[in-house]
Amino acid sequence: MHRGQRDKLTTLILSAHDGMVVTDRHGRVVLTNPSAVAILRKDRDQIFMDGFSHLFDNPKIMSTAIREEDYIEFEIDDRTLQLLASVIQNQDNQIIGSAALIRDVTREKRMQAELQHLATSDGLTGLFNRRYLDTTLASELDRSKRYGHTLSIMMFDVDHFKLFNDEHGHDQGDRVLQVLSTTVKELLRTSDIACRYGGEEFLVILPETDLEGAMAIAERVRETVSQTLVDGLTVTISIGVACYPRTLVENYQKFIEAADKALYEAKAAGRNCVRPA
Ligand code: GH3
Ligand code: MG
Ligand code: MG
Repeated sequence: MHRGQRDKLTTLILSAHDGMVVTDRHGRVVLTNPSAVAILRKDRDQIFMDGFSHLFDNPKIMSTAIREEDYIEFEIDDRTLQLLASVIQNQDNQIIGSAALIRDVTREKRMQAELQHLATSDGLTGLFNRRYLDTTLASELDRSKRYGHTLSIMMFDVDHFKLFNDEHGHDQGDRVLQVLSTTVKELLRTSDIACRYGGEEFLVILPETDLEGAMAIAERVRETVSQTLVDGLTVTISIGVACYPRTLVENYQKFIEAADKALYEAKAAGRNCVRPA
């Protein structure tokens, strides 16, 4: 290699954002850069001494990376790192060394998770939002149809909430919706998906749940909400439950309509009760 070219390459490696470690054909580390020192959290001499297979305390990380074509990703001391490790071969397929590229993607991962959370959750209650509900319910219903599984939903609405707001103020109403959401979430399984459908209306997706199971959960939610004091006040909710395939529906919108109709019947029956579709 031309001397000027080599200097340029060295400058490039030294100033690279990614950590780099290069070995000779005997596996001895011959080159590393400041980014590698920062990411690996050990000084240059230590990197040379530990050797390529022990760049990380756990040697499995390197052996896995060398077998993979692409970057592998893993967690280490609260950080997310990506690692690409490869042998370097010459034109005759002889191994002349190996190289590793290491990236710290902790910030990107956190931002991605935060964006994902913002895009799918409701600001007031922290439950999933309407957009997430639409896409998730559509795919859950598809899955249930394909595999012949049962799927239930419960839709509920706060009783006489307009009166509550008129009497106690909108902020107090908001607080009730927040506590109600926490109460409901605590009663559900981790596989259940609680969403804010709109204003004071909520929808919970209950995968792999038949009508009897869904009615039992709905009854427990209804009762617990009616007994929960928020700043000394209580509200009640009415709930409509629908279960597929007991209620055959062609799409998720019709499924929601069925639960909404049952909710309307619960309201008509005097509120603070549960009705099936
Ligand atoms: P019903 O028992 O028939 O459901 O009576 P309701 O008064 O709850 O029904 P209606 O749909 O007429 O009114 C809903 C009220 O819910 C109107 C609105 O003031 C209140 N509401 C909707 N969204 C919010 C919210 O985000 N915060 C607060 N504080 N109130 C809300
Ligand atoms: Mg309403
Ligand atoms: Mg209401």
